[in-house]
Amino acid sequence: MKKHNFSAGPAVLPAPVLKEAAKAVANYQGSGLGLIEMSHRGPEFTAIIEEANALMHELLAIPANSGYHVLWLTGGASTQFFMVPMNLLDNGETAAYVDTGVWANKAIKEAKAFGNVEVLASSKEQNYTFIPKGYKIPKHAKYLHLTSNNTIFGTQIQRMPKSPVPIVCDMSSDFLSRPVEVSNYGLIYAGAQKNLGPAGTTVVIVREDMLGKVNRYLPTMLDYRTFIAENSLYNTPPVFPIYVSMLTMRWIKKTGGLKAMHRRNKAKAALLYNEIDANPLFTGTVAKEDRSLMNICFVMTKGHEALEKEFLKETEANGMVGLKGHRSVGGFRASTYNALPKAGVQALVDLMQDFARRKG
Ligand SMILES: *Cc1c(COP(=O)(O)O)cnc(C)c1O
Repeated sequence: MKKHNFSAGPAVLPAPVLKEAAKAVANYQGSGLGLIEMSHRGPEFTAIIEEANALMHELLAIPANSGYHVLWLTGGASTQFFMVPMNLLDNGETAAYVDTGVWANKAIKEAKAFGNVEVLASSKEQNYTFIPKGYKIPKHAKYLHLTSNNTIFGTQIQRMPKSPVPIVCDMSSDFLSRPVEVSNYGLIYAGAQKNLGPAGTTVVIVREDMLGKVNRYLPTMLDYRTFIAENSLYNTPPVFPIYVSMLTMRWIKKTGGLKAMHRRNKAKAALLYNEIDANPLFTGTVAKEDRSLMNICFVMTKGHEALEKEFLKETEANGMVGLKGHRSVGGFRASTYNALPKAGVQALVDLMQDFARRKG
């Protein structure tokens, strides 16, 4: 039986994408060679990365010659935590960060090694249960770093602040889940394994005027300009993760693009949040206005905590995977990325209702 995959990452991918990727590994388009044993400079992979870049521009409506470049890097989003300040922030300069969770915190820690960091706001004291708003963004900052979706705590920025300085955004866990106005950002980054493809590649979208403004030596492999100049092919790129990401983007396009993704994601999230709010056994963990459409966190209502293990067991017995909450929140986390069908959410909601009838 195919499982309902609620894992936070690596995460669910569209079934037709998995099928086609599996075929390509063994024998790429009938060539007699597997994709992962082919040269990354051959015509096959050249066509793949060109299509990946074209799809990214199309889905995000990035105009040609807009100064934005799509890069395929390695090292995960965690490498971007230091690569961003290394490339954008000179010694003695200041960058502004908003602390909305574990990942934002890690980004802050790394940035401090390269310049001054001003943390404009933090929800840490309330265990990151809301997105801070109304903070003042200093004009002298080189950039403002935000995390659009907090994978662990289940909050998401629903309206980006107006910023007098370029925004750098970690979109790892909601990338391509909704339309994004790219021109509002100086740099966007996202690890592929939450909503796009397998682990092993990180997408960076950077506006070229952000670069070339620091004096320190940048190792070739850690300089964004290397990847711009070589079209992400300075060295051997992660061929397979890029291929699968390209297939996922084909699927997104075929499914109607980012507006359609957003509509589907809103419908799935509403289905589950409505049940969390209506069901006496379960309670949400974050401010309603900041609820994530991607990672839906909830716990057993006070007084019913003893039922947690039992409910988790029942989800597993019913083919649902990955619902145990992160240790810093507890309870449950349902990750409802693009590729999770609504039927998966419906199965979870049905089980919650049935559980409440039996135990409530
Ligand atoms: C998962 C995640 C990361 C870390 O990604 P890696 O690719 O494992 O380094 C960073 N930021 C966010 C928002 C994430 O969800």
